[in-house]
Amino acid sequence: MQLAPGLHRIGNDIVAAHLIVTDQGITLIDTGLPGHLADLQRELDALGRPRSDIRGIVLTHGDSDHMGFAERLRRELGIPVFVGEGDADRTRGAKPPATPRDRVRILPLLGFLAYSLRKGGFRIPPIGEVHPVSDGDELDLPGRPRIIGMPGHSPGSIAVLVPAVRAVFVGDELTTRNVLTGVTGAQPAPFTDDQAGSSASLERLRDLDVDWVVPGHGAPWHGTTAALIDAYRAAEAAR
Ligand SMILES: [Zn+2]
Repeated sequence: MQLAPGLHRIGNDIVAAHLIVTDQGITLIDTGLPGHLADLQRELDALGRPRSDIRGIVLTHGDSDHMGFAERLRRELGIPVFVGEGDADRTRGAKPPATPRDRVRILPLLGFLAYSLRKGGFRIPPIGEVHPVSDGDELDLPGRPRIIGMPGHSPGSIAVLVPAVRAVFVGDELTTRNVLTGVTGAQPAPFTDDQAGSSASLERLRDLDVDWVVPGHGAPWHGTTAALIDAYRAAEAAR
């Protein structure tokens, strides 16, 4: 679906991935779960664009529910996969450390697990080759994505600023729908390695001039980053 001209979304509020669509080609921000490849193909068909228009993939971090079909497309199209340098090992198959235990509600948790199962989320192939990126990098991809280092959710978590579509993609540095509880609204994300670090990193977004803040899980936020961060702070204080 189209969120704004040039900004498209596949998946849903449980797990989503995004496309930057330009005349020069397409950039993917995250690749969801393996089964989302069919959703991507439907989106491309609706746009009338061939798969070969995809020029590269940027992963907001190296967790499995964001790298779903990245290896498949990398091999098929010979395109680069970019990831924050601190998460490169994860994308190549290293097991991330256990995260502090999160609060859970049973129905949303079962919904997440069922959706993941249906989309092949328990068999994520490692990525054969990744290009590590770091804070301040600007990538030679459609939309000229800029990298903002956001350590916290994972060591190599990044935000991806795409001025061409006035959006910043924040991965799991925050969520607007907690997959484990079903609670909606801006809030800390589950499965976070370093919550204090994640919370501090968010301030790096406060002054960005964007219309959209797009998390990996939950509805995209249409509004300023400052308003989003303030909503997050309120949820954080209520925990
Ligand atoms: Zn995630």
